Amino acid sequence: MKQDSQTRLIHAPRKAPQAISTIQPPLYRASTIIFNNTDALFNRHWTDDYDYSYGTHGTPTTFTLGDNIAQLEGGLYHLLAPSGLSAINLVNSCFLSQGDEVWVADNIYGPNMEHLRNMEKRYGITVKVYNPIELDTFQPTDKAKLIWLEAAGSVTLEFPDLAGLVKKAQAHNILTALDNTWGAGLAFDAFDFSEEHLSVDMTVHALTKYPSGGGDILMGSVVTRDKTLHHKLFRAHAIQGISVSGDDVAQIQRSLASMQLRYQHQSSSALTLMTWLKQQTEFVQVLHPSDPDSAGHQYWKEICKQGDSAGLVSVIFDSTYVMQDIRNFCDSLKLFKLGFSWGGPVSLVMLYNLKDMRVLEHSHLKDGLLVRFCIGLEYPEDLIQDIQHALEQMKKLKNE
Ligand SMILES: *Cc1c(COP(=O)(O)O)cnc(C)c1O
Repeated sequence: MKQDSQTRLIHAPRKAPQAISTIQPPLYRASTIIFNNTDALFNRHWTDDYDYSYGTHGTPTTFTLGDNIAQLEGGLYHLLAPSGLSAINLVNSCFLSQGDEVWVADNIYGPNMEHLRNMEKRYGITVKVYNPIELDTFQPTDKAKLIWLEAAGSVTLEFPDLAGLVKKAQAHNILTALDNTWGAGLAFDAFDFSEEHLSVDMTVHALTKYPSGGGDILMGSVVTRDKTLHHKLFRAHAIQGISVSGDDVAQIQRSLASMQLRYQHQSSSALTLMTWLKQQTEFVQVLHPSDPDSAGHQYWKEICKQGDSAGLVSVIFDSTYVMQDIRNFCDSLKLFKLGFSWGGPVSLVMLYNLKDMRVLEHSHLKDGLLVRFCIGLEYPEDLIQDIQHALEQMKKLKNE
């Protein structure tokens, strides 16, 4: 029977020849995944990895990226989420129940803290804060369920006593989740980071940063080596309807090939900048884990053996510079753009008032307003000139 052209358009042959070989894997977009027959339908195991039954549970495209990220980080099992924060939320909502205690570093990624504070109010979870470089401040009770680790921590970049924290958590049977965005699976191996082969239970990675590398795609991942933990996460992921776009996945997949080169370049540019920043009199402190004066430097040195330190460096301005001066400084920068995030080609700057951001007292942080630089792929000398010019502009405006 001759079919109508409308039907023919829909049912046109769409299989690619099997023998074709390309640099990038084929891209699958799917909500529906077609079962070959009712046997395949009734024998589906959507709770198994790599079972294709519906778009939210994954496609060859999402599994390929997940495998790549797990391999990069030294893990075995993976899940993708639409943003780094969504991956964080997946861990929190999967493992925390009413009455549980969760520990977070004072320099934790801010929105994770906000998310947990919200859970604390609504679901009766207790949020406790520790100082990442003072192990004694981590005092879990028997209600403690989960500890969040971040190496180095957000904005102030202290490198934590990862071995001490993980050992103590394990002794108390507490799950360890590391926000691995800074190390990105490159600076150290979260699943085997010490001579005693210590490992965290799971990593969360904002793929938005280095894996994407473009400043344009949002995504997150959760990686584990433990099948039981993974299956708990997998179920939570499925019932919450967390899924990612195949197109976004393909973009990140494409960027992975250059990720390590970008990371090392940004890491080395940040070092160049750090050395220069330390010589400038406008700053009372330069924060960067590779600097012997930075808090937690000894832990960084032990764990990041190849000397990698990502592309972030923060400075604290002398307290004679007030908010208006810092704003003038940021507004005078030309190459550094004002914006959140990092890991893309364009260098970014963000200003912070630490007083509003920390719960505990930190004797290692001097008074003054903080500016964080996220180094992009520009030539480092051009970035130095940009900062130098903006500092002059700031001082000129102050003296007017
Ligand atoms: C950016 C970031 C996140 C969140 O990632 P999004 O994709 O922006 O939600 C989480 N943790 C750290 C350390 C980050 O820098």
